[in-house]
Amino acid sequence: MTARVLVVDDVLPNVKLLEAKLSSEYFDVLTATSGPAALEIVQREHPDIVLLDVMMPGMNGYEVCRRIKGDPGTSHIPVVMITALDQRSDRIAGLEAGADDFLTKPVDDTALFARVRSLVRLKVMVDELRNRESTSQTFGLQSEEREEETFDPGNTSILIVEDQPKAAARLARALEGMATIHLSAGGEDVADRAREKNFDLIIISLEMRDTDGLWVCSRLRSFDETRRVPILVIVDDDEHGQRQLVRAFEMGVNDYLIRPVDKLELLARARTNLKRKRYADRLWENFHLSMQLATTDAVTGLYNRHYMTSHLETQIRASRAKGKPLSLVMLDLDHFKQINDRYGHAAGDEVLREFAARITRNIRGVDLAARYGGEEFVIIMPETAPEEARRIAERLREITASHPFQLPGGTEIPVTASLGLASLNDSIHNGNDLIDHADVALYQAKNEGRNRVVIAAA
Ligand code: GH3
Ligand code: MG
Ligand code: MG
Repeated sequence: MTARVLVVDDVLPNVKLLEAKLSSEYFDVLTATSGPAALEIVQREHPDIVLLDVMMPGMNGYEVCRRIKGDPGTSHIPVVMITALDQRSDRIAGLEAGADDFLTKPVDDTALFARVRSLVRLKVMVDELRNRESTSQTFGLQSEEREEETFDPGNTSILIVEDQPKAAARLARALEGMATIHLSAGGEDVADRAREKNFDLIIISLEMRDTDGLWVCSRLRSFDETRRVPILVIVDDDEHGQRQLVRAFEMGVNDYLIRPVDKLELLARARTNLKRKRYADRLWENFHLSMQLATTDAVTGLYNRHYMTSHLETQIRASRAKGKPLSLVMLDLDHFKQINDRYGHAAGDEVLREFAARITRNIRGVDLAARYGGEEFVIIMPETAPEEARRIAERLREITASHPFQLPGGTEIPVTASLGLASLNDSIHNGNDLIDHADVALYQAKNEGRNRVVIAAA
C-alpha cells in the first residue's frame, strides 16, 4: 500500500527524520514547516494522511487540525497529532480539535507505520464509498443524506476479550458511552461465539493466562462471519509484546494499544476502527445493491431479461446433466395497450406490478420469474414436466382473470393474460429455442381468443 503523507513540524530535523522513515517504506512524503504552509498543501494536494506536530510557533497543530476538519472538502483526511510524551492535556486538546490519532515523540517505528497504515486503509474505503455514492446519486438511486460519524450503544457493539477482571472493567467503562460492551474472559470458544453476533469491534488482550490471544485472532480471521470485524490487540510494553505485535499484524489484526492503556488513545483507536467497520459494511451493502440493480427490473422487482436468459442456459445444462425435465412459460397481458389508453400509463405500471406480485405468490422458490419485455413475462420451472407445468400455467391464468386488479385509488381493472408453454425436449438445444417455442405457443393463444394456455408442439 502506498500513500501520500504530509509531515508537518517546525523543526526541520524532525521533518527529515520522519520523511526518511516513511520514504524507506515507499510512502510518498510531502513536508511543511509551518501551519499555514501545511494548510496550503492540504488544499492543493489532498494528501492521504497528515502527521502534525502540536508545538509550532504562529499557528499551532490544534488550529491546523481544526481547519482541516472544519472544511468539508478536507475533513475526511485523517490527522495524527504528534505530542510530547505523556502530555495528557495535549491529547485531550487534539481530540477536541478533531484529530484521528496520536503519536508520541520520539516516534517509534512500529507505532508510526501502524497508525499510518491503519488510517490510510480507512481512508481508501471512505474514498471508494464517496465515489460510489456520488455515482449512485448521479443515477438518482440514493439520497444525499450521509450518516453521522457518531457511535452510540444502541447501534454499536464491542467485544472485549481480557481475563483480568479489573483491566476488562476499565476498558468497558471507558467505552460504554460509545457501544454496548460484551466481556469475555477468553477460552477456547471465544472466536466461535463471536461468529454468532455481528460485533463492530473486537479488543483482545494478547497477555491472557489460559488463552492464546494470537490464536483467537487467527481463528477470527479464518471465519467468513468475523473476517471483516476490526481487531484491536493490547500488548505489554516489552520485547515479548513487540514480538507478539509483529505476528498479530501478519495475521491481519488492524490496530494495537500498549499497556497501561491510555483512555484517550483507546477512544481514538476504537473510533477509527468502528468507522472502518461501518464503511466496510456500507461498501458491502452498496455492492449488493448494485448487483440487485443489475439483475432486476425496477418496476416489478422481478429479474430482468438479461439475467433470465443467462440463468436459463445454466438451468438447461443442469437439467440435461441430471436427466430432469424443465419447463418455461411465457405470459403476455391481453390488450394491455387499451389499459394504458383508458386508465393512463401510471395505472398500467400498477397493473404490471400487481401481475408480478400475483405470479410471485403462486410459484415455487426454485422457479424464476422475470420481466421479459414491456408486458411480457417468463417463468423458468426446473424439474417440472409438461403436465405439471400446464397445471401451474392454468393456475396463473386463473389467478389473473378471477379478480380484477385494484388500483391505489380504488379503481378496479379486469385483466387477463395469455400463456405459451414449452418444455425441454430433444429438438430444443438452448435457451433461445425454448423461448421461441413458448413464444409461438403464446402467439397461438392470442389468435385463439386470449385468456388461455397453449402448449408448444414438441
Ligand atoms: P395483446 O393482447 O395482443 O398482447 O395486446 P397488447 O395491447 O397487450 O399488446 P401490444 O404489444 O400491442 O401493446 C403492448 C403495450 O404495452 C404497448 C406499450 O405502451 C405498453 N407497455 C410496454 N411497457 C410498458 C410499461 O412499462 N408500462 C406501461 N404502463 N405500459 C407499457
Ligand atoms: Mg399484450
Ligand atoms: Mg406484447
